[in-house]
Amino acid sequence: MLITELKNQELLKSQLKGKTFLLLCHGCKELRFPEKEAEELVKELTEEGIAIGSLTTDYICNEENLKLRLNRFAEQIEAADTILVLSCGVGVQTVASMYPNKRVLPGCDTYRLPGFQGVTPLEHDCQQCGQCYLNLTGGICPLTACSKSLINGQCGGARDGKCEVDPNMECGWERIYRKLEQLGRLDVLKCPVQLRNYATDEAVK
Ligand code: SF4
Ligand code: SF4
Repeated sequence: MLITELKNQELLKSQLKGKTFLLLCHGCKELRFPEKEAEELVKELTEEGIAIGSLTTDYICNEENLKLRLNRFAEQIEAADTILVLSCGVGVQTVASMYPNKRVLPGCDTYRLPGFQGVTPLEHDCQQCGQCYLNLTGGICPLTACSKSLINGQCGGARDGKCEVDPNMECGWERIYRKLEQLGRLDVLKCPVQLRNYATDEAVK
């Protein structure tokens, strides 16, 4: 099982720039999703003129399925500066890879609960760390894309873009750097170290 919770709404709103399209995933049956709070947020952002469209659906981690469902929203998505995704970390990563030139932000944190974890696509993985960083990393998870799960940047060991731990994989932090560069958001890397609340991380309990 896993559980998603909305991020602090004040913080979320402060990150939204320009027009926003909201994508809500009801998730799979292994997931608890904060449906009521998410719908209230959509209503609020629409009334404030920030949201220009939204879609509530399920299994947004299935890219082919999501593409079909988003067809009728193509114009709104094109016009949006930001796509705010309310889902588990896998869903946010899926949307970020589908729209590489858009600012894609997570609206939720994902926590692990004991039990079956569901079936996720191989391309993306979420460790359900309870403090989602995808808003700072261009939609690439630093916990799963980096062999050391570093959250504050590269270890310095990469060679020719490959990870020093596993030379068969691309260095996750080089991918994050390139993605932020593409989005014109390298300023994010100049932010002070993002303090991590390890109490939310199942792995250290
Ligand atoms: S930072 Fe990675 S592990 Fe943590 S919730 Fe986001 S996608 Fe999942
Ligand atoms: S080389 Fe890159 S992916 Fe590998 S551990 Fe260092 S920062 Fe992480």
